[in-house]
Amino acid sequence: MMLDWTRIDTVLLDMDGTLLDLNFDNYFWLEYLPLRYAQENRMALEQAKKLIQQKTFALEGTLEWYSTTYWTQALGIDVVALKHEVRHRVTEMPYCHDFLDGLKAAQKNIVMVTNAHHDSLNLKMDKTGMAHKFDRLITVHEFALPKENILCWSEVQKIHPFNPARTLLIDDNLNVLKSAEKYGIAHLVAIYQPDSQAPKKDVEHFQAIHTFDEILPVIKSDRPG
Ligand SMILES: [Mg+2]
Repeated sequence: MMLDWTRIDTVLLDMDGTLLDLNFDNYFWLEYLPLRYAQENRMALEQAKKLIQQKTFALEGTLEWYSTTYWTQALGIDVVALKHEVRHRVTEMPYCHDFLDGLKAAQKNIVMVTNAHHDSLNLKMDKTGMAHKFDRLITVHEFALPKENILCWSEVQKIHPFNPARTLLIDDNLNVLKSAEKYGIAHLVAIYQPDSQAPKKDVEHFQAIHTFDEILPVIKSDRPG
């Protein structure tokens, strides 16, 4: 897949499942949290898994679903502390740092826009040391609208203005890509395999990448000849 980098000024990047392997989050929510919840509540693991899956399924795509504050209250267990227990599992996608460095060298505006809560964002930035590679880090909890909601993008505009016609969004969530598409963001890229341990996804009508080396920006040499 080729992107025309001469037509792109701003790059909006998702975090989980895009820059970082979604396997951390899937492992946390499907395995580790149920395990620790079962221990704390002296409950069978299968029962804890079922209970947590029911509660999370009902809220998928909402702001609460992404909120560590909400889940800490709803489950009566410190979700942030538990994430710290397994933070060594946070892993960058292949060529993630090369891609960010390439964007910087090509003088693009680099903005993280994540549905993740501040706690999760901080934990992942600490583990990966990539925060300084962005012009701006935005979590939608600043204005309480998930990226699935088209109104989210005008809130992002207020914090960090961008021209939708000259903007690229890379995100593994198809509902997010659809809301950005409706808003008028011209360049959209999905991720085939957000979780390295799970099968490839159907990306519908979106163009998509396996790894970031497929879309490294070409840097114009300023040397004569
Ligand atoms: Mg994502």
